[in-house]
Amino acid sequence: MGPAAKTYDYIVIGGGSGGSGAARRAAGWYGAKTLLIENGPSGGCCVNVGCVPKKMTWFFASVNEMLHSGRVYGYDIPQNVPFHFDEFKRKRDAQIRKTSAGYEINWNREGIELVRGTATFKGPKELEVALQDGRGKARYTAPHILIATGGYPVVPKDIEGSHHGITSDGFFDIEHLPRSIAVIGAGYIAVELAGVLNAVGVEVHMFIRGETFLRKFDPMIQETMTKRYEDAGTGLTNGDMREKQCDPPVPGKRLKLATVDGEEFHFDELLWAIGRVPEVQDLDLASAGVKLTENGHIEVDDFQNTNVDGIYALGDVTGQMELTPVAIAAGRQLGNRLFGPPHLKASKLEYSNVPTVVFGHPEVGTIGLTEPEAIGKFGRDNVKVYHTKFASMFYDIFPPEEKAKHPTEYKIVCAGPEEKVVGLHILGEGSAEILQGFGVAMKMGATKKDFDSCIAIHPTSAEEIVTMK
Ligand code: FAD
Ligand code: NDP
Repeated sequence: MGPAAKTYDYIVIGGGSGGSGAARRAAGWYGAKTLLIENGPSGGCCVNVGCVPKKMTWFFASVNEMLHSGRVYGYDIPQNVPFHFDEFKRKRDAQIRKTSAGYEINWNREGIELVRGTATFKGPKELEVALQDGRGKARYTAPHILIATGGYPVVPKDIEGSHHGITSDGFFDIEHLPRSIAVIGAGYIAVELAGVLNAVGVEVHMFIRGETFLRKFDPMIQETMTKRYEDAGTGLTNGDMREKQCDPPVPGKRLKLATVDGEEFHFDELLWAIGRVPEVQDLDLASAGVKLTENGHIEVDDFQNTNVDGIYALGDVTGQMELTPVAIAAGRQLGNRLFGPPHLKASKLEYSNVPTVVFGHPEVGTIGLTEPEAIGKFGRDNVKVYHTKFASMFYDIFPPEEKAKHPTEYKIVCAGPEEKVVGLHILGEGSAEILQGFGVAMKMGATKKDFDSCIAIHPTSAEEIVTMK
């Protein structure tokens, strides 16, 4: 028999957004003896291969867009100003390392013990960790165990040669931009990464299986964003990628993407952005008896309980709104419920009216129900929609044909006689910053009348949201 398992109040598997938020609330606020097990870089997906490097790259691309606008505004900026993506990447990586290290500083300060290795269940209350750096195995136990192991990007297994492409993880390793790239998918990651690459002059071709991008979003956003990307020069091919095949690149040749009906495309690089799947493969959930959903996510109730007493799950591994602030908030609420004072014993995260932004070109923001969802929920007669489409003043001095390619568009979806705002969908420059405050208003139950009662800030684009007829 090996040594007895070391005992904690709380074990958290995964030091990403959700796991870190959970551990810090339990240990930092309530003094729970907490162990955090992490087998990758501290901070998880968001910090290392997600939100943070993505947004920094979005800023990099926005600079190039601004150089073009500068010329329109009369600045003497030459065409094709040279840039050094490798230099930007070095600076971005250095910042990511700092941010990741900051997680460890916080954990250390709050008394969270960190173990580096891969956790596997050895029963409902016991974990074995394969320690990194060849340090063998160790066992740990706790009455409360949280699974916050996130997910990883899908590479299709049924497409020949698919491993020759990269995913968003590989995107962040790129030091020298390819001349051309195929982007497969039409969700958040496809739209964001295709957008930045197009904005810095890479020839981008998107392969989507529907007619439009962002099909979970309001139809207004789907239609306008798809057209917007085409207007910006992004190639677009519709069709299910399962019918296609990627040939290995021969040295000196480009990667070939071929459809079964013989259509061929050639690219320097191919990016799979067709969704993410939950990371459960190392956990041996069967030995703990934890149930999965049909899609392979961990099944949880409203309180992040799995079907096994004392085992919880949150964040991407549960497939509940795969967003960093959602994972963090769920972790904090769970910490309140498990270790907080009696009045917090029913704490749980409310998953409705969560604002979210796609950092596309332009940005897209959405909160609440789409128009079809609202009609499905309240009935067509009980839904009123306000809509406006215009060009932001920023483009007023652009040539008319270019101005027409930069729409700003807003939609407010209201329900019931009091016109409660149940959905807000916005598209255009600054949308990410605009949406947050409207999110507060909607959380407070704002009606259209409340929106209208707020005096507009002039001249802005956002003033249209409080003056729509
Ligand atoms: P993760 O952050 O993935 O953390 C899980 C951790 O568990 C990882 O560190 C992993 O190493 C560890 N782990 C896994 N298995 C084990 C094991 N068996 N033992 C020990 N450790 C283990 N969200 C936003 O809100 N805004 C954005 O702008 C945004 N941009 C994104 C851009 C990209 C390209 C991607 C991929 C995602 C983006 N997201 C964004 C989503 C966001 O990153 C995730 O929703 C969030 O990171 C999920 O947090 P998590 O804690 O559930 O999982
Ligand atoms: P999404 O779920 O957003 O999109 C997946 C896309 O893949 C869909 O457009 C889907 O198409 C397409 N797809 C699936 N299978 C195929 C196929 N066989 N052939 C062609 N296309 C296919 O996933 P992402 O990977 O983009 O992002 C994962 C999650 O990470 C997001 O849902 C989001 O929660 C989070 N994220 C958040 C960001 C943010 O907050 N800004 C940024 C990036 C990620 P279809 O439309 O036909 O269904």
